[in-house]
Amino acid sequence: MKMKRVLVTGGGGFLGSHLCDQLLERGNEVICVDNFFTGSKRNIRHLHNNEYFELIRHDVTFPLFVEVDEIYNLACPASPVHYQYDPIQTTKTNVHGAINMLGLAKRLNVPIFQASTSEVYGDPDVHPQTEDYWGNVNPIGIRSCYDEGKRCAETLFFDYQRQVDLSVKVARIFNTYGPRMQPDDGRVVSNFILQALKGEEITIFGDGEQTRSFCYVDDMVDAFLRFMETPRQVTGPINLGNPVETSMLELAATIIELTNSKSKLVKRPLPEDDPRKRLPDITRAKETLAWEPTTTLREGLLKTIRYFDAALRRAEAR
Ligand code: NAD
Ligand code: UDP
Ligand code: UDP
Repeated sequence: MKMKRVLVTGGGGFLGSHLCDQLLERGNEVICVDNFFTGSKRNIRHLHNNEYFELIRHDVTFPLFVEVDEIYNLACPASPVHYQYDPIQTTKTNVHGAINMLGLAKRLNVPIFQASTSEVYGDPDVHPQTEDYWGNVNPIGIRSCYDEGKRCAETLFFDYQRQVDLSVKVARIFNTYGPRMQPDDGRVVSNFILQALKGEEITIFGDGEQTRSFCYVDDMVDAFLRFMETPRQVTGPINLGNPVETSMLELAATIIELTNSKSKLVKRPLPEDDPRKRLPDITRAKETLAWEPTTTLREGLLKTIRYFDAALRRAEAR
């Protein structure tokens, strides 16, 4: 196979850094672009001496001129705490960032992958969510910068596909977890694991009956790579996630068991616009990518617990 030069925007983040690892492992050259708004150099530090890896500190809301064979556009803060910190910048990253990366893909005539999200379905009234469901999204709420930003990015991707015949690959990613999740971003998996490891109270928002479906990062990155390999007519959108529904109470109980923790549950108010249910229908992914997640929640949680446990020990030793 010919070595490709691949651009990964948001390559210093959680998903992006795992994607850089996998691309390099498969014999590609990687250009990682990140402004380190939420990502961390620690996530890619192990790649600095790799001659096939290059890091550019850059904000995708500004034009970028590089020469590559493929583009993965992942740049965007992904957790509510981070994307609500500067909502205007979040919309700019989603929309201006997409325009710049699409302009780059157009000039080079190369395929471009978009990390879209299950949030395009908003608080869904169709369950499970199939790709042809249009969603139920509040356009003016506190999550809108992210949800509507990602929806507008999808619009741009499909307009570039129709108007200039660009090869686009739009993935709607459902909740993903694993090593290198940021400890401070308020995501439920990292929160519960850290609380359990520290023996602190586990914060259940609302009644804890709300559900999510959690996909382990290695499975998710595998789907990205398969998607990029598909023929040009496979544009998506394609749901990527684990079709196993878990309530927050079940998740807390599993994490307490796996960490052998004495932590107790404590109820906290449910954040505004917090979806009640989220479950992907992944029929399309199974059919077009021959893919489905293979890591069970317990296996994935154990690997993630080990990662956070080591990080806590390092912090204590300092
Ligand atoms: P992350 O916050 O760890 O990574 C995002 C990266 O983008 C960070 O390194 C950040 O510094 C960088 N970034 C942000 N704004 C930028 C800008 N303007 N210019 C350049 N870089 C910028 O988040 P993640 O979980 O790895 O998510 C990656 C992508 O996947 C995001 O687009 C996110 O919306 C999408 N996604 C993630 C999940 C999930 O469960 N993790 C679910 C759905 C969608
Ligand atoms: N762009 C970029 N790198 C490139 C080519 C384009 O960042 O290699 C940006 C450019 O700044 C432009 C955007 O992508 O604003 C959209 O490009 P397109 O060609 O679609 O639009 P136009 O330049 O005609 O406005
Ligand atoms: N959540 C919780 N306790 C926490 C953090 C989150 O109960 O400490 C809940 C949150 O209200 C939501 C679910 O867990 O219902 C998933 O939250 P996360 O922010 O991880 O993902 P998203 O809401 O974006 O799917």
